[in-house]
Amino acid sequence: MISDEALGAFQVIVGEENVSREPAVLDTYAWQPTINDDPAKWVYRPVAVVLPGSTAEVQEVVKVCNKHGLKFKATTTGWGVYSGPTSDNVVQFDMRRMNKIIEIDEKNMYAVVEPYVTGAQLQAEAMKLGLNTHIIGAGPVCSPLASATSGWGVGWDCIYMSYSARNVLGVEWVLPDGELLYLGTPGSGSEWFCGDGPGPSLRGILRGTSGALGGHGVFTRCAIKLFNWPGPSELHTEGLLLDAQSEIPENIRFHMCFFPDRDKLADAVYEIGDAEIGYLATRVSPNVFLYGATPRLFRKLTRTSALRSLLSETLKWMFVIVLMGSSREEIEYQDAVVKKIVGDYKGFSLEMTEVPVIGPILPMNFLRVSAIPAIFRLGGLFTTALGRNETWDTQLDWAEVGEELRKRRIEQGEVLDDMGDNPFMALYENNTWSHCENIYQYDTRNEKHLEKLHTIFAESTIRAMEICQEPLSSFDWRVRKILGPLLYDYNYWQKQIAQSFGAEGAADTGMYCDEVDYDLSAGDPQLKEKLEKIIAEKK
Ligand SMILES: Cc1cc2nc3c(=O)[nH]c(=O)nc-3n(C[C@H](O)[C@H](O)[C@H](O)COP(=O)(O)OP(=O)(O)OC[C@H]3O[C@@H](n4cnc5c(N)ncnc54)[C@H](O)[C@@H]3O)c2cc1C
Repeated sequence: MISDEALGAFQVIVGEENVSREPAVLDTYAWQPTINDDPAKWVYRPVAVVLPGSTAEVQEVVKVCNKHGLKFKATTTGWGVYSGPTSDNVVQFDMRRMNKIIEIDEKNMYAVVEPYVTGAQLQAEAMKLGLNTHIIGAGPVCSPLASATSGWGVGWDCIYMSYSARNVLGVEWVLPDGELLYLGTPGSGSEWFCGDGPGPSLRGILRGTSGALGGHGVFTRCAIKLFNWPGPSELHTEGLLLDAQSEIPENIRFHMCFFPDRDKLADAVYEIGDAEIGYLATRVSPNVFLYGATPRLFRKLTRTSALRSLLSETLKWMFVIVLMGSSREEIEYQDAVVKKIVGDYKGFSLEMTEVPVIGPILPMNFLRVSAIPAIFRLGGLFTTALGRNETWDTQLDWAEVGEELRKRRIEQGEVLDDMGDNPFMALYENNTWSHCENIYQYDTRNEKHLEKLHTIFAESTIRAMEICQEPLSSFDWRVRKILGPLLYDYNYWQKQIAQSFGAEGAADTGMYCDEVDYDLSAGDPQLKEKLEKIIAEKK
């Protein structure tokens, strides 16, 4: 319970209406069902929620937390369990009042944003100037600042617009003791155009692969790199989500490419990367589009044999690539390159922009990434056996491991039947490297599904270790204690970083570097044996 004194101090800083310790309000922050493998779906209830309206207010509120021995953690759009408190005694900072696009520098191609600006807002404004922003695969309602500064950042536009950690430029950062730090050019009193100097650069510490997930203090502004948008200044659209019908820009092509086997798909994708074409690219299973658009029909299809085999075997090696050209010649060139590569590898491609009904839903659902929430339609929730960034070939290995593990769980009725193959894959920067995570669909009302969430996590982690891949879950709070010593004590160093910022005991570092006791065998004797064997070998 927070003291009256601390609460009063918050109220003086942000105004009474922007602070609450009402349990009913606090529980709306503690209810975190998304990507939460705890069957109960709750996290710790914060002791208070505070809505700061400016950087100065964030600094003041942090100092009050320090004075009263309270930890704090920021949430922006809060689309995942990561933004919730991980222990008692945490004040949740809800950043929704800081929602402005401060500037878009058209010439130098960047935007300075506050935490609660969403991907959709930034994209709509950038497009007016012939620019575009990377939107993570979580969709357009997420905060570009959160992913740029604090967590992951993969999406299907990464082939052209990279990973969020690579797009962050100047940063305004309230440290865990309330001091203000500017990184990059704003750190030397200049504009926001560079994250690495002149002025201090701490990109590796600020971000790394996974981000500190709230454990570093509060980011109040950051500059984000923008990219070329060769389309219209507005995507004229009627309707919402899967009913959205947009005017299709002339200079766009949307290819669904199918290959006869894994090797041909793999090689074709490397060639596409070498050709330096594409605006958006992903490998997902065709089933994902079906269960997103028509979940009831999909359930019936799972019970067929011929159609099931067509979808999960014949059409399995699918790759989607969206092309955009800055001129007619360029789009025709890119189109011809895709057709040539697909033909060379004995595949075929369906160009979807001219297809009635389907074509017009593509701009909003792909370029604005609105299709992603459809992932909830099959069973209500999903879990992900943790994404990793690596070469395309090893990512395909990981997708196949996922399929093998998932099929067994489907047979045993422990997850929903998505026909087995369900990876989310993307390419970074013309396939210099790429992403793969394995998606498991489950029904949150099904006790058996809920019970198996830990086993899926454990099994995936152990399997990754067995095939000598970097354990995908190494960022995860549950496994640091086990994996840290096997991986150069990475967590020891993360703790040192947290200490040097004064974060320990001030910021909520639970998602970043705290260690907990966790049974990585999920109570399964076979997994326990495997785990012990691997640990012994690796040591
Ligand atoms: C359907 C779905 C699909 C997803 N797909 C992807 C995907 O393709 N790619 C991907 O990268 N992620 C994906 N995710 C995970 C996603 O990154 C997380 O859900 C993330 O939490 C979304 O960020 P957000 O913008 O809602 O920010 P939040 O959830 O609010 O914050 C994310 C993290 O950053 C911290 N944070 C937020 N704001 C600040 C701040 N101002 N200062 C300091 N710390 C802060 C939070 O404490 C939290 O740890 C997906 C999630 C869902 C639900």
